[in-house]
Amino acid sequence: MKQKIAILAGDGIGPEVTHEAVTLLKAVAEFGGHDFTFTEALIGGVAITAEGTPLPKRTLDIALASDAVLLGAVGDNTFNALPPSQRPEAGLLQIRQHLGGFANLRPATAYVALAQSSPLRPEIIAGADILFVRELLGGLYFGEPRWWNKSPDAPGHGEAINTMRYTTDEVTRVARIAFSLAQSRRKKLTSVDKANVLECSQLWRAAVDQLAPEFPDVTVEHQFVDSMAIHLMNRPRDFDVILTENLFGDILSDESGVITGSLGMLPSATLGGRVNLYEPVHGSAPDIAGQGRANPLGAILTAAMLLRHSAHLEQEAAAIESAVHRVLNDGHRTADISRGAPTVTTQQMGQLVHQAFTESTDRRQSMHAV
Ligand code: NAD
Repeated sequence: MKQKIAILAGDGIGPEVTHEAVTLLKAVAEFGGHDFTFTEALIGGVAITAEGTPLPKRTLDIALASDAVLLGAVGDNTFNALPPSQRPEAGLLQIRQHLGGFANLRPATAYVALAQSSPLRPEIIAGADILFVRELLGGLYFGEPRWWNKSPDAPGHGEAINTMRYTTDEVTRVARIAFSLAQSRRKKLTSVDKANVLECSQLWRAAVDQLAPEFPDVTVEHQFVDSMAIHLMNRPRDFDVILTENLFGDILSDESGVITGSLGMLPSATLGGRVNLYEPVHGSAPDIAGQGRANPLGAILTAAMLLRHSAHLEQEAAAIESAVHRVLNDGHRTADISRGAPTVTTQQMGQLVHQAFTESTDRRQSMHAV
């Protein structure tokens, strides 16, 4: 299997966690005899510092010429005074747009070993296994017009506008992916909107209802986003696939970090465009950057999603996920999930998963040899 992978580690803890994810991908390539090539490029604050733009042309060219893009995180407080279009985060929005993926898959699983890491009671989260499907290219993050009129002399001074806009086609294409994923899981789809207030949400709901008869084995329910924020904490086990628009999906999937024990545990994959994009859900976490305190498991699980969805190496993806389970079951914890227990560093956690993966692969190989 050949796979050209662009590595855009980005800012803050991005490079720390990406390093551990790439180490696992290299181990998979070595054990399976796969031809993976890795090309590094700049994005975000580091790209602004080096080249004056959050998404340099070289980075975009490398990404577009790859089979998959693995991204760490962007965001650097140094650039907080810049307008949104020039900040590190603009590089992320631009690359998402260029790669074209519109279906952002964000699994949130309650790990038995981490039952004590969540502030929620163990009996509430036990068995929770949710897949968010977040629409990634529409809504407020991309809608036009968008502006902030700061000029003190201009009419409308002190006014700012962002636009939430969706077409039926944009909703239908992401809903179709969510429905088919629900078919392969527990066959329940919860569509989240704010249809009691927003026209965009009314269109969203109508498009989902129109598509539903094509998937008769999937049960559909609609929830308002504000109630959903509560249901997610009170009864997370009741949800299977949660389909929602860009901003609501950003917020709700971050909230699901409470179920998994930490934001640092959450992976994601963005499908449906020219090149699939893989990134952990968390940001650049400037508060802990450079201290070896970042949890690399979200990034490592993101690498597993890359193996599953781009390289089609299901067994290897599952082996990495099992290695993560094993390390957690053995009691190893980074600071964010430790709840006062002894901790390991980012690098040590990566090495532990690597070791667990290697041992399981060695076992599989010796079983085949027998
Ligand atoms: P964040 O996700 O970076 O951090 C939120 C909190 O979670 C922090 O306390 C942080 O220490 C903790 N955290 C996050 N990831 C962790 C990990 N792997 N291990 C342990 N703890 C972890 O969100 P924020 O603080 O709101 O934003 C910081 C910067 O990141 C901002 O510039 C923001 O715009 C950017 N951001 C980028 C992305 C992205 O690149 N996809 C996503 C969200 C935020």
